Amino acid sequence: MLSPQSDFIRQAGNIFPRMRAWRRAIHRWPELGFQEHKTSALVGKVLHQTGWKVLAGVAGTGVVGLLPGSHPGPCFAIRADMDALPLQEQNTCAYASHVAGRMHACGHDGNTAMVLGAAQLLAGAREHLRGSIKLIFQPCEEAPPGGALAMIAAGVLHSPRVEAVIAGHVDTTLPVGTIGVKAGPVMASADVIHLTIQGKGGHGALPHKSIDAIAVAGQVIANLQHLVSREQDPLEPAVLSLGTISGGSAYNVIADRVWIQGTLRTLQEKERRALPRRIARIAKGVARAHRAEALLTVERGHPALVNDSRMTKGVITSARCLSGRVKIKELLRPAMSGEDFTHFARVVPACFFRVGAGGKQKKYSFSWHHPRFDFDERGLIAGAAVLARTALDYVPR
Ligand SMILES: [Zn+2]
Ligand SMILES: [Zn+2]
Repeated sequence: MLSPQSDFIRQAGNIFPRMRAWRRAIHRWPELGFQEHKTSALVGKVLHQTGWKVLAGVAGTGVVGLLPGSHPGPCFAIRADMDALPLQEQNTCAYASHVAGRMHACGHDGNTAMVLGAAQLLAGAREHLRGSIKLIFQPCEEAPPGGALAMIAAGVLHSPRVEAVIAGHVDTTLPVGTIGVKAGPVMASADVIHLTIQGKGGHGALPHKSIDAIAVAGQVIANLQHLVSREQDPLEPAVLSLGTISGGSAYNVIADRVWIQGTLRTLQEKERRALPRRIARIAKGVARAHRAEALLTVERGHPALVNDSRMTKGVITSARCLSGRVKIKELLRPAMSGEDFTHFARVVPACFFRVGAGGKQKKYSFSWHHPRFDFDERGLIAGAAVLARTALDYVPR
């Protein structure tokens, strides 16, 4: 007779209508970070009905589920993120967002539904479970400092102590039924830079009596383009993208100050520490050359996410055991986007993998954070099965 976990793909297929219904309910009512009240109520209700012990109100809107197994052993965790984005959805499907200016455009509705699906599979396989499984539904992945740190501070990695953690994220660049996985660095650090150019205001007709902060900002921006293209080791990835600029009040007034914000991303901590110094050197040097001043402050965001090699092998081995129904794509390259799961990965061995939910249809071709983002929900079947199977197969070091 097959053990239940060998059959997880079929079981996940059976509960697919439920996963889809949860995903759509969450999608209709997107909630921003630390405001996930409806979402966490739904999560708590489903877990409770499935026989999990539920702890709600963790770090605000976080929810923790615990399933003690039938045999002694370690505690293994699966993490989901529940928050949406401040974005106006442009899709017109039946389950489109009901909330103006809020949208699940990153697929966290899918990530949450997929872990609820895994919760059902695991509850059904409890007699085979050694140790316990903890489900961590965190608030606020999208905005630093983020919900992962808050959940860790609230003690979710203790009582029982979590030995390892995994997470899946829906990914429309991979087809349904495929998971994408990679050991080592998988996502970049993401820090925010704030640059102020201080000049001296004056009449637009009298440039010689002022220091034009807008003209200097233009030079600083142009010079910062040399940083990644000319100074940075080409084999050590880094991104510096300046996303906002503001300053000036009237067409004929020379602006005294310009504010610039940008994002700085790296895969190595060494680069992450070095680049702000280089940005400051260029900005200050260029500003000074034009009689202005530049001030740089860096808001530290998430560090780079590094997958543990043994945990990554564990995910691959477990996925392979699912009756050959899950394709495994070993990813060769990391992404320069950020992910606050990194805070868990810095404390316990972890693996973050991608769950294929794309297809040839145009509606699944939009990138994360696009107002028309959507994914093929059938991808949740493989996602739930791989999460549950990896959790059941876990053997402590
Ligand atoms: Zn996102
Ligand atoms: Zn995301």
